Amino acid sequence: MATHKTRMLIIGSGPAGLSAAIYGARAMMEPIVVQGLQPGGQLTITTDVENYPGFKDVIQGPWLMQEMEAQAVHVGTRMMWDTIVDVDLSGSPFRAIGDSGDIYEGDTLVIATGAQAKWLGVPGEMELGGKGVSACATCDGFFYRGKKVAVIGGGNTAVEEALYLTNHSDDVTLIHRRDELRSEKILQERLFANPKIKVLWNKAVDRFVGDPLSGGLTHLALRDTVTGETSDFAADGAFVAIGHAPATELFKGKLPVDEGGYLIVEPGTPKTAIPGVFACGDVMDHTYRQAVTAAGTGCMAALDAERFLSGLSIDLMGHAEKAEAI
Ligand code: FAD
Ligand code: NAP
Repeated sequence: MATHKTRMLIIGSGPAGLSAAIYGARAMMEPIVVQGLQPGGQLTITTDVENYPGFKDVIQGPWLMQEMEAQAVHVGTRMMWDTIVDVDLSGSPFRAIGDSGDIYEGDTLVIATGAQAKWLGVPGEMELGGKGVSACATCDGFFYRGKKVAVIGGGNTAVEEALYLTNHSDDVTLIHRRDELRSEKILQERLFANPKIKVLWNKAVDRFVGDPLSGGLTHLALRDTVTGETSDFAADGAFVAIGHAPATELFKGKLPVDEGGYLIVEPGTPKTAIPGVFACGDVMDHTYRQAVTAAGTGCMAALDAERFLSGLSIDLMGHAEKAEAI
């Protein structure tokens, strides 16, 4: 067991954490990034990324995150293969305990733990997990080559998952609980234009049915959300794509969260209720949740951490003022 000390401790290695690291390292704060169970964050489970600025051609999510990590390391970040299991935010230096038993101490703390896939919570979902039910088409789509698959949800993730699955299957059905999608229009156009995809409107999944020990998923029991009528939908694979929940379990009772569980920050800043503790990316952003916004708020967290350490904070009008507590 070892104790690792730094001027800026970052929990999370998605676009927010790595952007904070790049700025922090260049400000000589010698940041440590604890990567967690998903090094590189959510973009590592997607394929095409075409809205991250700076790339004319479509890039791959895992590649983008490898480049971001390489850049962070290049400027002086220490990357740690560990997951934080507890934090002590009672004062600077802030302490975090790793699953490895190692202790991390940061004069400042940047929380960039992002978000995780949500599940429907219906019978059969967990039992058939990995046996027909999944939350990641790019991870598991390959296993359903030439088979019949369903995607549940109506946001960008669901539409992208459905489009991606057409690389493997000619029979993809998007199942949505309402009669309109919430995804971006450009993605909707691609979805509706794809002959391999059908959409089932106003349908909720009541249960996933099949035998986990032999054959896996056989069908989904559906309910019409308007008429209440029930029906069975045969499928070999079902991909739950109904959004993500912020990873804030570690901070419950230690930092204020909103009704969705997102960390609350001072509006327009990454400052949490505790001076010296900053939050950036999806863990504090229930509105935008994009790689570029995560990177942007990661940058802001690093700049504010630097100002905290130097005894200054900048208010929203850009005026320097004495920090609350050093
Ligand atoms: P995340 O990327 O969620 O990273 C969180 C990090 O925290 C991970 O490294 C994780 O391991 C770590 N962590 C969590 N808990 C702990 C812990 N206890 N200890 C240590 N580490 C921990 N956005 C776009 O802009 N363009 C796209 O094309 C796009 N496509 C997407 C496709 C999919 C399938 C998904 C799910 C999302 C997509 N997004 C896209 C959204 C984008 O991925 C997120 O907005 C972005 O990744 C958020 O970055 P983040 O750094 O805040 O968090
Ligand atoms: P989201 O936008 O929150 O959409 C979740 C979808 O799942 C909604 O259609 C919702 O239905 C449905 N849903 C939620 N709970 C459900 C339940 N219990 N049963 C059935 N359906 C349920 O989540 P997301 O699509 O994962 O996107 C998250 C964020 O990442 C967004 O900000 C998105 O823009 C971003 N993202 C961006 C890209 C991109 O830019 N290319 C790609 C992926 C994700 P309702 O519509 O009825 O609420």
